[in-house]
Amino acid sequence: MKKKIVVAGGGGFIGGALVADLRRQGVTDIRAVDIKPLGEWYQQFDDVENVSLDLSGKEACEHALEGAGLVYNLAADMGGMGFIENNKALCMLTILINTHMLMAAKKHAVDRFFYSSSACVYAAGLQRDPNVTALKEEDSYPAMPEDGYGWEKLFSERMCRHFTEDFGLVTRVARYHNVYGPLGTYDGGREKAPAAICRKVIEAVLSGNHKIEIWGDGHQTRSFQYIDDCVLGTQKIMHSDNVTMPINLGSSEMVTINQLVDLAEGIAGIKLERSYKLDAPKGVNGRNSDNTLIQKLLGWEPSTSLKEGLAKTYAWIKADIEAKRK
Ligand code: NAD
Repeated sequence: MKKKIVVAGGGGFIGGALVADLRRQGVTDIRAVDIKPLGEWYQQFDDVENVSLDLSGKEACEHALEGAGLVYNLAADMGGMGFIENNKALCMLTILINTHMLMAAKKHAVDRFFYSSSACVYAAGLQRDPNVTALKEEDSYPAMPEDGYGWEKLFSERMCRHFTEDFGLVTRVARYHNVYGPLGTYDGGREKAPAAICRKVIEAVLSGNHKIEIWGDGHQTRSFQYIDDCVLGTQKIMHSDNVTMPINLGSSEMVTINQLVDLAEGIAGIKLERSYKLDAPKGVNGRNSDNTLIQKLLGWEPSTSLKEGLAKTYAWIKADIEAKRK
């Protein structure tokens, strides 16, 4: 019998984009699983087996992985800095998902298991300076990750490693750096910086109130990875023979948050009066992805420019806001 590709977190931003891309490639036997009711999924397709299920339980994971060949585990209770700094226990409870997913993957003897880790596994001490040295994979130890969310990710990475070493389960782990793009969260408290900035600029344009509030002093640096690069890289890592340890999957185009706002303003053709909320959750001062390892192992790295990706994201958020207003 043909084996299924299971996408856990398929109702979410990256999971939905992955399912869409698999379909584009002609994959027919896909099961997408998410805790959200089907009506709330970002993307949903009739020819995909869509299952609304809480994957924090063992039986649910066993059910979700019946007949599975490849498993992409993208399910997590997460959001941008505003969410993860204020919901550490919820972030850590995501450990139940990956634990039970790994156990179910072992039970069903799946072919490969992909886990979506995060740049939040890197120690805060290495990210104090906005002119940060890009983070290399080995920088994750000695461990002092982002409190809550980052610890859960690092522990889950380790669990993948030991399921491979002790049980022979083939696992692949990518450390995603900030992912953005159309069909993602842009309001409600879980949104990340690129979507939040686009939304704020669009709201300023639509309301005529030409002001914008920025979290932090605007000098903090980040790199932002476009969703298409993330989805492609995820599949490259899943199918690789040589990526056997956690690997960065992120853009190396570093910008300040002020530069991100400049870009969004440029797309809108407007200049806004900026105010800075210094006590807002802002995460580390600087973060960038060192892509030496992914270049060496895959001969590839994310390459969509922020200017290009942000223009597409801005257009989608604007259209969505306008449609909702109507
Ligand atoms: P998302 O929140 O859009 O998607 C995650 C999905 O998991 C959601 O749809 C959610 O409903 C689902 N989920 C949560 N709890 C569940 C449960 N108990 N059972 C079943 N489903 C459950 O987030 P995303 O941006 O698509 O992120 C996907 C993965 O990538 C996550 O593991 C996240 O930690 C990781 N990641 C994302 C980024 C980013 O910038 N988006 C960066 C680093 C890592």
